[in-house]
Amino acid sequence: MDQRYYTLAEGCPYPSASTSVQFRNNGGGGPGLLQDIQLIETLAHFARERIPERVVHAKAAGAFGEFTVTDDCSDITSASFLSKVDKKTPFLLRISTVGGEAGSADSSRDVHGWAMKLFTDEGNLDWVFNNTPVFFIRDPIKFPSLNRSHKRHPQTHLPDPNMFWDFHVGNPESFHELMHFFSDRGTPASLRHMNAYSGHTYKFTKEDGSFNYVKIQMKTSVKNLTKEESVNIAGENPDFLLQDLFEAIEKGDYPTWTVYVQVMSPEQAENYRWNIFDMTKVWPHKDFPLRRIGSITLDRNPLNYFTDIEQAAFSPSTMVPGFAPSADPVLQARLFSYPDAARYRLGVNYQQLPTNAPKAPVYCPFQRDGLMNFSNDYGADPNYVGSSLQPTKFYQDVKGVKASALSTFTEHEKWTGEVCTFQSHVTDEDFVQPAALWDVIGREAGHQQRFFGNVAIHLCQVKHPSLRQAVYDLFSRVNPDLGAGVKKETEALVSH
Ligand code: NDP
Repeated sequence: MDQRYYTLAEGCPYPSASTSVQFRNNGGGGPGLLQDIQLIETLAHFARERIPERVVHAKAAGAFGEFTVTDDCSDITSASFLSKVDKKTPFLLRISTVGGEAGSADSSRDVHGWAMKLFTDEGNLDWVFNNTPVFFIRDPIKFPSLNRSHKRHPQTHLPDPNMFWDFHVGNPESFHELMHFFSDRGTPASLRHMNAYSGHTYKFTKEDGSFNYVKIQMKTSVKNLTKEESVNIAGENPDFLLQDLFEAIEKGDYPTWTVYVQVMSPEQAENYRWNIFDMTKVWPHKDFPLRRIGSITLDRNPLNYFTDIEQAAFSPSTMVPGFAPSADPVLQARLFSYPDAARYRLGVNYQQLPTNAPKAPVYCPFQRDGLMNFSNDYGADPNYVGSSLQPTKFYQDVKGVKASALSTFTEHEKWTGEVCTFQSHVTDEDFVQPAALWDVIGREAGHQQRFFGNVAIHLCQVKHPSLRQAVYDLFSRVNPDLGAGVKKETEALVSH
């Protein structure tokens, strides 16, 4: 018999964790009682044990680590966490697939999300990145459609290559990201061996009001699975990547990445060939070389997956002074939609959950009350602006912090123009960078051939020949050999 001390959630001790109260009758067993609080509480809580699963990025691993500044970058940002070499900042990292549900196989081909919460001394900074440097769309209104086309069909409830390819043929600005998706990097061999990219353009800002546009990249030695390996592993161990990360950290084999920025001045941005607010484009390295700023190491596993990782909420809107958003419309939409998703999934006070709470002082008396508020709620402090009354003891927490450090300088641009719908039509320019990637892929022996096979196994499931042909035509716009190679392998599987 279990002799441990157990209580109800309110503290009342109970004698046994594994016995419910019943009517005694001769044969044993009998009707239960509503007054068996322990049983009722146990069952009622169990029924509510799951919170809504993320509609995307549901399957994930997570761990804690440390960011270290390796190179002086005080000339481009006044962010405190980057202010001097060797400064360290703790962070939480959650790495996910996108389309699959929480129980899906993590070795399946997908973009991988990289959500990082840096607990800086000026508040939290979330870097919500991916393992690809670009994205499928540049108009945020397409975001739900993109994700639905990668998930389950409304009738069959099956993943459906017809709607996947139908979406991409109808929205071919996605072909650059599709090239990354179907390259070997679509199936990382380990979360410890994949890169992360900001994708969006952000800004590094300084207290004097100056700023530069930046893209951030985190690099390690990249290792990938082949199509065959990823399929076999998905059957044998759907938690392969999750397990690999947990076990490596557990045995002290701590993964590390080097952190770089690409830096572009506002003047360079105005004259640059590519629209830097278009998330389907990179900044080629030869134009904007990587500048090293730091390194990161993961060195601690979660104590509890639910509290540390599942309840974590990340948003690109979580920023610190010295780091600001750009005008990228997809980023602007994410600034709203990520906190909105967290409010739905975790409730309006999700920032108070231990895994999300900043380590820096917080004084935010105009955001109070609400469902499941478990803070001091600022006691009697005024809950309205412009008060001449003295705040109470809760204010003391942040006394001494420079007021100037509490505001993010983002108003560095002057905009003129007119409101219009976003011009997202696709031109030949959209195929230039995918073509450059095709050449990069060609530098590695056998990779182009594997690319054909990676697409073919998926595309051969498309029923309509005209839709398949439209895909070949778009790959041919990237490179005629690419279109021909995809067609040959796909049609061979179709007629098989
Ligand atoms: P570079 O030759 O300077 O850089 C190409 C980069 O491609 C490499 O640095 C490497 O990035 C990355 N890479 C290598 N193999 C693969 C692969 N199999 N799948 C995806 N990426 C790979 O060329 P450019 O900067 O002119 O870029 C050419 C193309 O490379 C772009 O169109 C883009 O698709 C891709 N790319 C560009 C990046 C950029 O920020 N400029 C970043 C990543 C990819 P890494 O060292 O980060 O692994």
